[in-house]
Amino acid sequence: MEIINETAIEITHSRLLSRPSVTVDVLRLDRLHPVISGNKWFKLKKYLEQADQSGKKTIASFGGAYSNHIIATAAACHLSGFESMGIIRGEKPQQLSPTLEKAMDYGMKLYFISRDDYRQKRIPDAIAAVDPFIIPEGGYGVPGARGIAEIPFYRHHYNIVCCAVGTGTTLAGLINSKTEGQQVLGVSVFKNNNSLCDEVAALLYDPEQPFSLVHDFHFGGYGRHRPELLEFMNDLFRTDGIPTDFVYTGKLFYGVRQLIDSGFFREPCRLLLIHSGGLQGNQSLGKGKLIF
Ligand SMILES: *Cc1c(COP(=O)(O)O)cnc(C)c1O
Repeated sequence: MEIINETAIEITHSRLLSRPSVTVDVLRLDRLHPVISGNKWFKLKKYLEQADQSGKKTIASFGGAYSNHIIATAAACHLSGFESMGIIRGEKPQQLSPTLEKAMDYGMKLYFISRDDYRQKRIPDAIAAVDPFIIPEGGYGVPGARGIAEIPFYRHHYNIVCCAVGTGTTLAGLINSKTEGQQVLGVSVFKNNNSLCDEVAALLYDPEQPFSLVHDFHFGGYGRHRPELLEFMNDLFRTDGIPTDFVYTGKLFYGVRQLIDSGFFREPCRLLLIHSGGLQGNQSLGKGKLIF
């Protein structure tokens, strides 16, 4: 079920982040597909295979109004011939977000549930009646991590691989497929997500594998931002031509720059940053804040 050309992945060098002893390159998963961008495709692919093998025709998953996972699921289902249903957090707004509008264009049926029900991942009766294949929120789970481990890697040339962390599925997949001696570092986009380490470890083939998780660059919490983050993202685009999103990848790049400049990486090293996509999420920012 290859609906995406994975061999077209490119690498961009970052002049802004590189230093004499630290080389920074970026794996451009954001360029994979205009809608199913970045890590979302790799997280979804094994679930799609499982759904296919289960004989189910409909896939359901969870997300918020600007969820990259929801839009990617809607598009991937459309392209691979599944019906899709989205269980969306919160009351239905008068004006749907561009993300949800687009998910509907891909044929996804949307069901809005209260924040309480959402927290408990309660499945609306209308969805349960169809008995769909359910993909966990954000694609979290072993199949998600297995898909990530299939990202074609160029990354052997690097000592350190870094990614933004939401559910931790991407980080776990990178740890599971890392080469000997390679380090994997995640930048969390949540404030005080104390269970994250355990959630990552739960997806590892070897739960003893070491990895680093940095919690200092959430800018106030999930989906929060400050002017210096947006300024940095504009700088990065001006210097390197790399667009980022303010929820995940902007915080990753910002965090890695701070780590480099604080001497965190002591030895000369080569870093690969995973650009996990998510650019559509910038639509929730007001116009004019970003130059791309
Ligand atoms: C969903 C997402 C992530 C987080 O991935 P996890 O596997 O949930 O940790 C990172 N970056 C972008 C752009 C995303 O959309």
